[in-house]
Amino acid sequence: MQLPPFEYIRPESLAEGLQALAEHGDKIAIMSGGSDLLINMKFRLDGPEYLLSLNGLPELQLIEELDDGSLRIGAGCKLTELANNALIKERYPALQAAIFSVGSRHVRNMGTIGGNICLDTRCWYTNQSETWRDTRDGCFKTDSEQCHVIKTTTKCHALSSTDSGPMLIALDASVVLASQAGERVVPVREFYQDDGLDHTVLEPGEVLVAVIVPPPRGRAVFAKLAQREGLDFAAGSFAAAVSGSNEKLDSVCLVMGSVAPEPRVMEQAGKILMDAGLTDESIDAAAGAARLSLDEVTNLFTPPGYKKRLIRALVKDALTELRDQAVRG
Ligand SMILES: Cc1cc2nc3c(=O)[nH]c(=O)nc-3n(C[C@H](O)[C@H](O)[C@H](O)COP(=O)(O)OP(=O)(O)OC[C@H]3O[C@@H](n4cnc5c(N)ncnc54)[C@H](O)[C@@H]3O)c2cc1C
Repeated sequence: MQLPPFEYIRPESLAEGLQALAEHGDKIAIMSGGSDLLINMKFRLDGPEYLLSLNGLPELQLIEELDDGSLRIGAGCKLTELANNALIKERYPALQAAIFSVGSRHVRNMGTIGGNICLDTRCWYTNQSETWRDTRDGCFKTDSEQCHVIKTTTKCHALSSTDSGPMLIALDASVVLASQAGERVVPVREFYQDDGLDHTVLEPGEVLVAVIVPPPRGRAVFAKLAQREGLDFAAGSFAAAVSGSNEKLDSVCLVMGSVAPEPRVMEQAGKILMDAGLTDESIDAAAGAARLSLDEVTNLFTPPGYKKRLIRALVKDALTELRDQAVRG
């Protein structure tokens, strides 16, 4: 499959890149590793006139410890480098697991953390070749006001499939966004929006330059189910972070991935654990309540009932692991 024609811009500095973004408005796309964007361009889902490559910009490659013990990770860091980083392995093993779960080694060698956080939403009906898509009408993502997944809806239900996103929310991380107007820091929890067409709060002209992960406060876990491990996007993923003892938790954050246009924070399930701690009964109840935080979960090559059972099983297994981590010490 051929790429459509575009003008390639490779800036010498971030400032030069931000200027190109401001100059070309909605005609320009940002590329980091290109492992997702270039495929979308080949599928004619993206067709920018200009392609701004951030690949290799030194400002985006740094991993540094801040004075308060947080870790600031440059958006351009490759996933392979992060999965092998000693500090991440030691302090944030669940984040390392989430990063390591992205695609295959080849994908992680190309893909960056910035590109993974900003990863476009996906849909079984849309992320296909043009020839495949031509067999039916378009949809919100292409050229028609309809959704093939949920017929009665008025918006796009393509899924957020980023593996790092849910984990970064659970760890209470923030992203640093830069434009010619300056920088702003946004909690990852507020970075995503429930809209398959406009799934982040990134404004035109803005680049994600770094992610800041606060010092670890307790225990965390990441779980993912994919059809082919080591290659596929998640059918469902789950990230959880807790602090306190199993009997009395001080904080809980549970986040589900690949079930909605945004990573979905599971408030009700979290409340059950805050009230009752991590016990067999509360884990079972939280796994049952997980479903309540989701809308229709049909965007998958399986009947809706399968995805509901999958969510329950993922949450139950992961929370059991989290409880056992404390027992093992
Ligand atoms: C076979 C295969 C399997 C995959 N499996 C997974 C998987 O299991 N889990 C998963 O999460 N992903 C998966 N991916 C998707 C993708 O490869 C990864 O998410 C990767 O981390 C994307 O990073 P990138 O740097 O290549 O992003 P790019 O392709 O360069 O960009 C992705 C999107 O982010 C935007 N973007 C990139 N960098 C920035 C920035 N700094 N600021 C603002 N916007 C930016 C781009 O405009 C684009 O919309 C898979 C891809 C393939 C081909």
